[in-house]
Amino acid sequence: MNYTETGWKLKNSYAGLPKTLYAPMEANPVSSPELVIANRALAKSLGLDPARLDSPESLQIFAGNQFPEGSFPLAQAYAGHQFGQFTMLGDGRAILIGEQQTPDGEIFDVQLKGAGITPFSRSGDGRAALGPMLREYIISESMHALGIPTSRSLAVVLTGEKIQRYSAEPGAILTRVASSHIRVGTFQFAAKYRSTEDLKALADYTIKRHFPEISGPDRYIELFRQTAQRQASLIAKWQLAGFVHGVMNTDNMAISGETIDYGPCAFLDRYDESAVFSSIDAGGRYAYRNQPLIGGWNLARFAESLFPLLDEIPEKQALSSLQGALEEYVNSQKQLYLAGMREKLGLFTETPEDEQLIDALLELMQEKQADYTNTFRSLTFEAVEEPQLANDPAFKAWHNRYKARQQQEGRPAQEILELMKSRNPAVIPRNHRVEAALEAAAQGDYEVMEKLLDILRNPYAHSEEQQPYTAPPPPSTPPYQTYCGT
Ligand code: AMP
Ligand code: MG
Ligand code: MG
Repeated sequence: MNYTETGWKLKNSYAGLPKTLYAPMEANPVSSPELVIANRALAKSLGLDPARLDSPESLQIFAGNQFPEGSFPLAQAYAGHQFGQFTMLGDGRAILIGEQQTPDGEIFDVQLKGAGITPFSRSGDGRAALGPMLREYIISESMHALGIPTSRSLAVVLTGEKIQRYSAEPGAILTRVASSHIRVGTFQFAAKYRSTEDLKALADYTIKRHFPEISGPDRYIELFRQTAQRQASLIAKWQLAGFVHGVMNTDNMAISGETIDYGPCAFLDRYDESAVFSSIDAGGRYAYRNQPLIGGWNLARFAESLFPLLDEIPEKQALSSLQGALEEYVNSQKQLYLAGMREKLGLFTETPEDEQLIDALLELMQEKQADYTNTFRSLTFEAVEEPQLANDPAFKAWHNRYKARQQQEGRPAQEILELMKSRNPAVIPRNHRVEAALEAAAQGDYEVMEKLLDILRNPYAHSEEQQPYTAPPPPSTPPYQTYCGT
């Protein structure tokens, strides 16, 4: 079939890698697909005609029933450390259909999640349920709007088939778009199970695709260093937004520096540095405060997987370069986080006392169970009061200290307000709002979700319309819990 009218312009460069790194796939058709939601703005930026997203041809593509010209559907092989345990994994329910070439000359993976059994499915059914796919759609699009690098969501379709989970659920497929799906785990797989030539092919491909300026004898060290820098920046942004990824296994860390594999993730409502939402993370390995540390742990696994490529460099030198890059990660992550926090506080310059000022605020928020997002909104618009903190003497003392610090800078109030408005979102995808949207969608009502997506599209607008969406969950709400692999 010819899909060029819709704007599909697929390459399949990943299929040009050694065949040991993936499994070719065929269509795994579903009986009666139905479009639930499609992303017009994203379609446009990809060079697709938004007006054709709900055409019968597009539906067949989003359902995995047919593939556009240029497609080479495949399941990627990867391994990874899951909660610290090394395991063979791979795309068990996703297929990469190809890479879309945009009008701007960029390329993006187009992947169907929930598209059926692959050679890597193990005991899984290769399918996905509607709720989790819509949840990924909402949260990933919100992350993008917040300015956090992420995979994006182009469409969700119902398959027309039921799948068995805790109960029978409607099956769905999410079309997601990412700079690539090359993971730390992709390298771990190649390093452990494949030849050094295959690993080298993967590394060279990754450099060409994500770091085209890297060359020379130290290129694999540089690949590591720059990947680590991207993770430093990404994880700083997660921390600043109060985002808990929830399952930072090495297979869920993308070399591109984008957030991928939305599963049990959630945003903080009240501030709690030990927040864990995932039902399977009893030990709190992936708790909010651990994310920077785990990022470093994962990067160390990435470094190890590159060892076979460092033959030409004296071992001592290679090790100390990697070690140095890892230390740079730790420092940058912290510096970027502190810089971001200063901006959230409307501070333009840096002083040695800032870290203490920030920590003191977080300690108060922790102690008083203050809402993370709304505390920063309160500070932005001095009129809005965060009830948990408003009458607390310790907070008042902190606030005086903060105001004194701000006055030292002597910036006009308007400038401070503009900075703070642009760094402190009015709205985040609050767990109770997301749940309400998913509950309505399960009943066939997609309007609640569409409205929520609309509100989340401009998180820094601070509009009247957003006001109702700024409310934290009612006090009676039980602790929020998320589930994996559904
Ligand atoms: P995740 O927790 O989404 O990172 O997935 C971990 C591994 O489990 C990956 O290899 C997935 O492809 C696989 N997986 C998750 N759900 C399913 C499923 N329903 N069927 C087959 N494989 C799955
Ligand atoms: Mg994963
Ligand atoms: Mg996944």
